[in-house]
Amino acid sequence: MKTAIYPGSFDPITSGHLNIIRRSANIFDKLIVCVMVNAGKHPMFTLEERVDLIRRVTQDIPNVEVDASNELLADYARRRGSCVIVKGLRAGSDFENEFQMALVNRKLNPELDTMFLTADSQYMYLSSSMVKELGSYGAALSDFIPEEIIPDFQKKIGAKEESK
Ligand code: ADP
Repeated sequence: MKTAIYPGSFDPITSGHLNIIRRSANIFDKLIVCVMVNAGKHPMFTLEERVDLIRRVTQDIPNVEVDASNELLADYARRRGSCVIVKGLRAGSDFENEFQMALVNRKLNPELDTMFLTADSQYMYLSSSMVKELGSYGAALSDFIPEEIIPDFQKKIGAKEESK
């Protein structure tokens, strides 16, 4: 059974992420979407909230599991018995960074390969940070994040504005 891991911050999950998840779930027997703890980032949603949002929007895909980890990705993959990491590549900016990370991960775990799926053209410029920026101006979000999590997002933005 071929298991792949799709790691990220998913703060929050966007339609671009979901597109990569659906396409990878079609390729592999099992896909583990793993929310990685990144000490350098200050997320808007807690780890638990991000996991819950991903679970809700992927519940119709039977071979997707959602998890969270604060391990090194290379160690996490080894522990979960997976030798493939899936990454989405957007226009230009992702390449350098992702190339470097793929090489480092392979160095740390020589059995580990990274597979890149090109972002769908409609999501090529979409990022979680752009969604947060747009949301803070009250822009319509239905082209950018799954419809069913828009209320959660708006609630979060509202709570943030109130605490200012
Ligand atoms: P972001 O860069 O938006 O904060 P993450 O760190 O959560 O996203 O990204 C996890 C993975 O998803 C990375 O491989 C990233 O390149 C990919 N990804 C992010 N947004 C998109 C998108 N719109 N289309 C395809 N892949 C994406």
